Amino acid sequence: MRYFIGNWKMFGIPKSINILRKINSFYSKDKNRKKYRVIMTPPYTLIESYAKYFKNKKIFIGSQNCYQKDQFSSNTAGVSPYMLRSVGAKYTLIGHSDNRGEGDSDLMLKNKVRFALKNNLKVVFCIGENKIEKKNNKTLIVLKKQLTKVLERKFNKNNIIVAYEPIWSIGTGKIPTAIELSTTILHIKNVLKNIFKESPAVLYGGSVDGGTVEIFKKIREIDGFLIGGASKSSKKFIDIIKNYYR
Ligand code: PEP
Repeated sequence: MRYFIGNWKMFGIPKSINILRKINSFYSKDKNRKKYRVIMTPPYTLIESYAKYFKNKKIFIGSQNCYQKDQFSSNTAGVSPYMLRSVGAKYTLIGHSDNRGEGDSDLMLKNKVRFALKNNLKVVFCIGENKIEKKNNKTLIVLKKQLTKVLERKFNKNNIIVAYEPIWSIGTGKIPTAIELSTTILHIKNVLKNIFKESPAVLYGGSVDGGTVEIFKKIREIDGFLIGGASKSSKKFIDIIKNYYR
């Protein structure tokens, strides 16, 4: 199974659902549809209405983050995994570099993963090195640390997906070389095998579009993509899927 996951970040109002309707109508007719799954993570404000609309359709709705507590608590503006699940979210991103940059610690991330899984949300756990770490050849060490500090064997690996997103690549148009990327993805899978025995799916994210996917698709170890900018346009998102299977 391959995954095409869109991350809208701070984008979207109710009528932006038209973007998803177009993606859904492409998906429903695509001869390759059994080979992949489409998941979209709009902002919190849109999850309930979008999840209701797509309930019996094939696009899954997720959130971009969740609070590190289970159900209800006195955290202003916090949105818990239980609350997300109750309005139809099926997935949640956790550990996106935007949120790590705003203070998400490993302990917070561990609690997020724990409570998300407890509330039947599938977790897309994001990791990635920054520009300086890459320059200093620290990528593999940094990624191992990010994985081992948060993920535990007792977590159900069937409900976890890992997304490798080098921070220097997000929204910049810069991408790793094919060799760098296959080495890194294999390293991530090895670390995950040590934690879980078997590796969950590992995605790539960072400047994925209809052009760059032609390079990424040659690296068979990549199980799918986390897509930022290009997920805000149905055409660009569909082009990624079309070019991947071409
Ligand atoms: C992201 O923010 O998760 C991302 C991958 O962004 P982009 O595709 O725009 O690089």
